[in-house]
Amino acid sequence: MCLCQARKIASTGDSTSYKSYTLGNFRNIEQISRLSEEQKFAIDVVARVLPFKTNNYVVNELIDWDNVPDDPVFLLNFPQQGMLLPRHFEQMAKLVRNKAAKNEITACANRIRLELNPHSAGQMEHNRPLLNGRILSGMQHKYKETVLCFPSQGQTCHAYCTFCFRWPQFIGVEELRFAMQEAEQLVQYLKVHPEVTDVILTGGDPLIMRTRAISSYLRKLISADLPHLKTIRIGTKTLSYWPQRYISDADADDLLLLFDEVAAAGKHLTIMAHFNAPQELETELVRNAICRIRSTGAQIRTQSPLLRHINDQPESWIAMWKRQVNLGCVPYYMFVVRDTGAHHYFGVPLARAWKIFRTAYRQVSGIARTVRGPSMSAMPGKVQVLGVSEVGGEKVFVLQMLQGRNPQWVARPFFAAFDGQATWLDELRPAFEEESFFFSKELAELQAGGPAVSALQ
Ligand SMILES: *Cc1c(COP(=O)(O)O)cnc(C)c1O
Ligand code: SF4
Repeated sequence: MCLCQARKIASTGDSTSYKSYTLGNFRNIEQISRLSEEQKFAIDVVARVLPFKTNNYVVNELIDWDNVPDDPVFLLNFPQQGMLLPRHFEQMAKLVRNKAAKNEITACANRIRLELNPHSAGQMEHNRPLLNGRILSGMQHKYKETVLCFPSQGQTCHAYCTFCFRWPQFIGVEELRFAMQEAEQLVQYLKVHPEVTDVILTGGDPLIMRTRAISSYLRKLISADLPHLKTIRIGTKTLSYWPQRYISDADADDLLLLFDEVAAAGKHLTIMAHFNAPQELETELVRNAICRIRSTGAQIRTQSPLLRHINDQPESWIAMWKRQVNLGCVPYYMFVVRDTGAHHYFGVPLARAWKIFRTAYRQVSGIARTVRGPSMSAMPGKVQVLGVSEVGGEKVFVLQMLQGRNPQWVARPFFAAFDGQATWLDELRPAFEEESFFFSKELAELQAGGPAVSALQ
């Protein structure tokens, strides 16, 4: 179908049929009967610790049940035994088997969660913006030109990804008036930060919010006098988990009209869409949703972490990037998965991540090579593994920052001693027997500056 017809696709699909599944009712899913008792028990155990939620679109349209348990989307949503360390699994399995009391299970879950490094990369502690001496809690300002905003109503998702590092912040839905207050604070902050060109609404998933709530952010941003604000990004997984959001939800048309308004106000709106596996891009619903979004003038950029068991084959990325470009989306980031939650299950060593990236990258046309990666969102910045090389007989990683807490650090190549097992920046040592990386001293000073001081102040 031609794009100019996109807005005419209305009300295909039936969003009144939305069904959500969690620990309490997942055994009602028809296809679950295909799993062994052991597999069902594992879901029951692991879901006590890692958040578990899925829905009928994911279950019926995305997961290929003939390919279970290897199906990537099945692994993306359904907890697996291997996602807990054996000792953690055993501790919880024992309680579930013995039908232990709820408070005992909760206590055990919390103990295990604390061991899963719930707040990695100092994200929340170190980049809190200040306004008139007060810390703004729903925001983060780490890189000069971009402010992140976490709408409090958007701190949940249509389904939960088993690898997600944001699970500590899934706090449930709050009231509309918070949105108004938060949007107002955001605008006040932007007024005194003319260096900011981009606002990213993120979560959870901001597009879990009703259009009315989203509009209180977007309308405030576009109607405030903020000539330096050029781009509004919305980070979302709705195109994967509930494309009906843009097609047949009761306020889908209003959402598109809101996107129109942003464009009409002269701001660029970009949906930062999260896709982990090729099949998420294959349904008629996602295709129509992409068409409808693009008909508003909004752009769609795509990103995903590289995840063992789910997409750690170059073929997955080649298929995703090609399909994305074919649908008019722009591949943006391949991330290295953070060291939190079920990292032992999903983690991919940096050396292997780079190989997968490179193998995929060189097999797609230049149009898809807008993608950058593999990139770690680490304490000093977004660090890209440019490759493995040899300098003066020493095997090294060549790295660079795509973003830095100090903008001066960006795009300056640096070297780490090669380590085939390393999965994160903090496991790397400088190459050539140097004491530290070029940014280490300054980073330590920034951190010592206290949690509320960002690199920019
Ligand atoms: C990734 C990220 C951004 C956006 O960086 P871009 O390179 O502009 O996409 C902004 N803030 C934080 C904290 C981030 O992690
Ligand atoms: S959609 Fe994003 S925030 Fe939500 S569970 Fe998945 S990775 Fe986490």
